[in-house]
Amino acid sequence: MKIAIETIQNLRWQDILDILLVAFIIYRLILIIKGTRTFQVLAGLAVLLLVIIVSRWIELRTMDWIFTKLWSQIVIVLIILFHPEIRRALAQIGKNPFSNITPMEEFKTLEEIVKASVSLANKKIGGIIVLEREIDLREIVEMGIQLDAKVSKEILNIIFLPQSPIHDGAVIIKGNRIVAAGCFLPLSLSPDISKIFGTRHRAAMGITEETDAVAIALSEEMGTISVIIGGKMTREVDAATLRRILTKIFIKEMKKDGLPIIQRLRNLFPERTAK
Ligand code: ATP
Ligand code: MG
Repeated sequence: MKIAIETIQNLRWQDILDILLVAFIIYRLILIIKGTRTFQVLAGLAVLLLVIIVSRWIELRTMDWIFTKLWSQIVIVLIILFHPEIRRALAQIGKNPFSNITPMEEFKTLEEIVKASVSLANKKIGGIIVLEREIDLREIVEMGIQLDAKVSKEILNIIFLPQSPIHDGAVIIKGNRIVAAGCFLPLSLSPDISKIFGTRHRAAMGITEETDAVAIALSEEMGTISVIIGGKMTREVDAATLRRILTKIFIKEMKKDGLPIIQRLRNLFPERTAK
C-alpha cells in the first residue's frame, strides 16, 4: 500500500504521457491486426513464450534450451515473413486516427450504394457488394483487383457491367472507398440456402458467416436485391428497406462516437428521415 502511494506521489507528467502513448500504440496495433492471420500467429507466439517461461520455471533444461535457441531464430523469420505487414503497421501508426469519414459522408455513401444496387438489379446485372465493418477484409481485398475510388453509383455500375474485366466476383467497400473488385469470397456450406440460389448468393452468404461484413447480392437471373448479415439473408428488398437496413447498421455505429448526427440528417433529408 505504502509503495503504491509512493509510486503515485513520484509520478511525473512524463510518466503519464509515457503510459498514454504506449496504450495508444498498443490499441492501434491491436486494431490493425485484429481479424487477420497475424493475430493467430501472435497468439501462437504467446503460447511459445508461455512454454519457455514454464519450462524455465520448473527447470526442464532441454525444453528451455531448445526454445531459447529457437526464439532468436523466430524473430528473424517473423521479420522476413511479415515484412509487408510491419511496413503497413508502421504507416498506420503515423496515420491520423481522426481522419475517419464523417457520418454525413457515410450517409451519402450508403445512398450511392442503394442507388447502384437498385439500378443494377433493375437491369438484371449480377454482382456482390461487401461492406466492411469491424473485421478487416484485407486478405480478400489482396486477392482481388485493388482499387481506391470514392463510392459512387456510376463506378459501381461500370464495375459490374458484363463487358467489364472486373465484373466477376465481389466489390469490397471500406468506409467511403471502393477498395477492390473481382474478389473471390468464401462459399457458404449452409444447407439452408434455397436451391434457387447459386454460387453468387452462396459467396455473399459465406463472407458474412466468417466476418461481420454486410453483403448485398444482386441477382442476374431474378433481378432482385438480397442483404446478408451474419449468414442471415433478407430476400428481395426494395430501395427503402435496403436504405433502412444499411442506415441502421452504419449510422448507428458512427453514433457510438457520440456525434449529434440525427438532427443534421433530418435537416438535410427531411423526407427520408421523417418518422
Ligand atoms: P444469380 O441470381 O445472379 O444468377 P446465383 O446465386 O444463381 O446468382 P450464379 O448464377 O452461379 O449464382 O452466379 C455466378 C457468378 O457469381 C459468377 O459469375 C461470379 O461473378 C459470382 N461468384 C461465384 N462464386 C463466387 C465467389 N466465390 N466469390 C465471388 N463471386 C462469386
Ligand atoms: Mg444463377
